[in-house]
Amino acid sequence: MKLNVIIPCHNEEGNIKILHQKLTETLNDIDYVLIFINDGSKDKTYDKLKEIYEEDKNHVKVINFSRNFGKDAAMYAGLSYAKAKYTAIIDGDCQQNPKYLLEMMKYLEENDDVDQVAMVNKTRNKEKFINKILKGCFYSFINLISDTKFVKGASDFRMFKEHVTKAIVSLNENNRFSKGIFSWVGFNTHYLEYKVENRNSGKSNFNVTNQFKYAFNGIINFSVKPLRIATYIGLISSIGSFIYLIITLIQTLIMGIDVPGYPSLICAILFLGGMQLIAIGILGEYVSKTYLETKKRPVYITKNKLGFNDDDIL
Ligand code: UDP
Ligand code: MG
Repeated sequence: MKLNVIIPCHNEEGNIKILHQKLTETLNDIDYVLIFINDGSKDKTYDKLKEIYEEDKNHVKVINFSRNFGKDAAMYAGLSYAKAKYTAIIDGDCQQNPKYLLEMMKYLEENDDVDQVAMVNKTRNKEKFINKILKGCFYSFINLISDTKFVKGASDFRMFKEHVTKAIVSLNENNRFSKGIFSWVGFNTHYLEYKVENRNSGKSNFNVTNQFKYAFNGIINFSVKPLRIATYIGLISSIGSFIYLIITLIQTLIMGIDVPGYPSLICAILFLGGMQLIAIGILGEYVSKTYLETKKRPVYITKNKLGFNDDDIL
């Protein structure tokens, strides 16, 4: 088989039939299989997927999760079952035009040294100003503190050669930050620009709070430098307070100046108390992630599958 397309779907009842149709028209001449993942949708997404499967059994497979595990888990599930020469990921909301799949495949076919093609969104429609600022800060910060490189605007809309798919699946960590994993595995990635279309129906699952959580998770997942930053801040404030102590001693004992203690004491206590809580918080984030990983729970749980044979299992 030449191409697998993985489509994570969470509450996409109004979109997946249209997307299926577009994909069918676009991939007409190619040997392909679409792998839809129903990630705990609360609407009729699964019913629609069943209909699509019944209509187009040769090209459609469905994995139905037992609950919502998140887009990263859905992508991981799809990649685990991918068997084609090329594997792509596309959103289920029609924001990413399937015509780019052909562009990505052409690029991979023509360039032996390129292993992965990722679509970069330079002109995201209707994005709020605050989102742009937050995203800019996130990319600058994470690139500063992480050894893994993150390209601004690079989406999950991408295509991998088979060996890259295998490498990604071989990382079976529970808390998955796919954007980081796609880069961490290495290989040669080429970036192509594309234009994001408006959502066909429904609303985005990633509001500002979710994006903030996602970004925070990414930072903790792909760098341990926040721990070191906490250590440095502790070190700097200790040195600062020691210098201040010396100055106070000189002022009172040698120069005889009456140093007003109360306001500076309160400031120092509050500042150091805050710093300590931040440091404990950062430490707690890493400890909790370690705790969750040690449980070795599966990334997702499947309720049922459509179109898979028994030997397709992971
Ligand atoms: N998605 C998913 N599980 C989730 C959230 C989202 O499978 O918990 C899917 C969603 O159905 C869509 C894709 O991930 O196909 C991207 O989500 P969304 O459109 O909400 O994000 P945005 O495009 O706004 O970044
Ligand atoms: Mg979307």
